[in-house]
Amino acid sequence: MKPAAKIIAVSNQKGGVGKTTTAVSLCAALAASRVSVLLVDFDPQANATSGLGGDPSEIPNVYHLMNGEADLDEVLRKTELPTLQLIGASPDLAGAEIEMAELEDRHHLLRDALQPARERYEFIFIDCPPSLSLLTLNGLAAADSVLIPVQSEYYALEGVSRLTQTIQLVQDSVNSELEVEGLLLTMTTRTNLSSDVAYELRGHFQSLVFDTEIPRNVRLSEAPSHGKPIITYDLASKGAESYLKLAREFLKRNGRGNS
Ligand code: ATP
Ligand code: MG
Repeated sequence: MKPAAKIIAVSNQKGGVGKTTTAVSLCAALAASRVSVLLVDFDPQANATSGLGGDPSEIPNVYHLMNGEADLDEVLRKTELPTLQLIGASPDLAGAEIEMAELEDRHHLLRDALQPARERYEFIFIDCPPSLSLLTLNGLAAADSVLIPVQSEYYALEGVSRLTQTIQLVQDSVNSELEVEGLLLTMTTRTNLSSDVAYELRGHFQSLVFDTEIPRNVRLSEAPSHGKPIITYDLASKGAESYLKLAREFLKRNGRGNS
């Protein structure tokens, strides 16, 4: 039997820091190395779904998988990359939170729903919504590790300390095994501010910060409107180059250096 997939939540309570861009681009970059990957869109905004060319109105999706109305095979969607599959989200997912709040095992619905998928992939990524909602807690409870994109800007470190508290809270409550996969500097620029933020973050978190940094790159912001991940939208771009580098670093850190 294949070993179970590692599940990685891409999370940061702060909005617009590059969670979805990272989830979509890293999954695609891993799939380009023929690593089998599943991306679970777990945000009612459904940006990861549309970013991979999926239709957010298509049902069933992650919501139906979680509430037991659909099984895994019914919600898996193909992407243009053969070893990358998607479980989509839709705006209805916001309503799921209210329904979930009533349930006794409300924090582990996603974890239980993804159990059968563990046998099929090497890595499963969960694109979490911003804010510390019941959805985010489900995402973090389902994960083995959390990958934290940090936008290189003045308030970045403040946001990270809030996140450290959140991770502690998750470890103390719904998932004592949760590890930090790494912090990823996103939208870096050639300014003093950007390098100061990188310097401080690395000083504070040391090797938890990925060596790879993701520069601000206009091609990365254009790709979602074409429903394509950056590596198929513009392979020659700086954005594609940096996410391919991140994929290599990620695999190496996970003992898969030769992929
Ligand atoms: P939310 O909290 O709303 O889910 P998010 O953390 O998932 O947001 P993204 O949607 O990935 O963040 O990115 C926010 C915006 O910034 C998007 O318009 C995206 O295209 C753009 N963006 C992300 N990373 C980069 C980058 N490296 N260079 C340029 N634009 C970027
Ligand atoms: Mg997002």
